[in-house]
Amino acid sequence: KELAQIEADKLKLIGTIAASTAHEIRNPLTGIKGFIALLSDKYKDDKDQYYFSLIQTEVNRINAIVSELLIIGKPTEASTEIHHVNDVVAEMVPLIESEAHLYNVGLRIELTNESAFVKLSKDHFKQIILNLVKNALEAMEKGGDLSIVTEVSAEFVLLKVTDTGKGMPLEVLEKVFTPFFTMKENGTGLGLLVCKRILDSYGGRLFLLSEVGKGTEATIQLPRVISSP
Ligand code: ADP
Ligand code: MG
Repeated sequence: KELAQIEADKLKLIGTIAASTAHEIRNPLTGIKGFIALLSDKYKDDKDQYYFSLIQTEVNRINAIVSELLIIGKPTEASTEIHHVNDVVAEMVPLIESEAHLYNVGLRIELTNESAFVKLSKDHFKQIILNLVKNALEAMEKGGDLSIVTEVSAEFVLLKVTDTGKGMPLEVLEKVFTPFFTMKENGTGLGLLVCKRILDSYGGRLFLLSEVGKGTEATIQLPRVISSP
């Protein structure tokens, strides 16, 4: 069997499992969250509070993984929304700014003056940008620079997220779209795959250029929609 086919089968299987169990997992989680909240009102001891917060964090993490699995598994329904790439970036600036600040990272944003409309749901677009920004920041533990640039060509709208972080060697770069592949202690190994799956359903692509010790440039490419909405 072709390697690509095996990968596709694997994803399909993950999707089927995720879709059929997501609710079964989420419902009891909601229960757990609720009862932990009740207990944490009752047991005010510092140590107890600390344990409760750990449980909350872990429950949130399971929730996040289940959501990511759902996106990967089900082909996302391509939305017919049309947005200017700059507007979506602008809406996210406050969040990105505060995240960058936490990582001691400088932020540079350069937006195109051209018309740069794409057909993509805003939620999907934000999720892709956020995943790329998170990866960029997590690669810059000792600080650095994050830049977000939008550009157009005749056919495409591009959004580049560039960091001056640790970069990736080829053997990592080759595996970044493998489900659950992560080099991080707390990673899910699903972020880039989520980006790719979403972009796939809109005729978009994701390119990664990386150099160890220098940094990484992640480029989202989407078909350019000529008219404004
Ligand atoms: P996660 O972030 O949960 O590990 P991702 O799918 O987002 O999962 O990324 C997979 C892996 O790719 C990361 O663990 C990391 O090793 C590598 N990676 C992704 N983006 C970058 C980046 N900007 N710089 C360096 N390494 C990266
Ligand atoms: Mg990630």
